[in-house]
Amino acid sequence: MFYSISRVCKSWCSAVLDVLFPSTGLLDLTKVDTYPECLRKEYMRFLKILLDTRPKAQWHTFVPPHTVWLKEHAILYIAQRSPCLKFLHMNILRLDPYHMAFPYWKNLKEYSCPIFMLRGSSDLISCLGNYCKNLQHLGLCGIIGSETASFIVKHLLELESLSLKKSSLTLDALLIFDGHAKLRILDLEHCLFVDAEVLKLFYRRAGVKAWLLKKPGTKAKKWNEEIHEKVSGNKRYIHCEEALCLECSWAY
Ligand SMILES: [Zn+2]
Repeated sequence: MFYSISRVCKSWCSAVLDVLFPSTGLLDLTKVDTYPECLRKEYMRFLKILLDTRPKAQWHTFVPPHTVWLKEHAILYIAQRSPCLKFLHMNILRLDPYHMAFPYWKNLKEYSCPIFMLRGSSDLISCLGNYCKNLQHLGLCGIIGSETASFIVKHLLELESLSLKKSSLTLDALLIFDGHAKLRILDLEHCLFVDAEVLKLFYRRAGVKAWLLKKPGTKAKKWNEEIHEKVSGNKRYIHCEEALCLECSWAY
């Protein structure tokens, strides 16, 4: 399909684009993850044609490939041609090459990356805060102490919902989020609440998902016994069944 049809005529080329990128407005590049090496260049060539021929304003959602690594100039090319982007769903380990794209995505409303962050999130948060002033939803997974929580609250003033699924965080960090003026929903499913000293151990051992690290003798704090009383109660908190949860029971 890549090699022959595209060279026949414009309508055939358009038909190929419709197969590769079937949803109007959704720039989902995960299909390229499944292609053999020899077809990836062709895919990227079609992506360029797509971006050059379709209206820039139509792109509302971008999902980068999970395993195929986009070069910086490719990320920049996409960003410059998708100025109305609202939703960015990442599923990759290295986020820093994407930071240069944020100045072009000023309308971003939602940023999510469920992959555990190996490094600090401060560069990402400051980029989002500087360029995407209307960001309303943030989804992250990581080790979150009071410093990171303060950073998020300070830079993302318009945040309405925050998802920290499978993160490890301190109670202080939660209380800082609790004080965010506009935040209404905190998704804390499979999160572990631990003391700041234990959080430091997670930092040292980082390399796999924080919540999977098991330290004998350490117990996570329970929502009903230790957390419920301390939060303001004016936000919606989503959390799992802790000791009854198949994912988290080991920590209680
Ligand atoms: Zn759980």
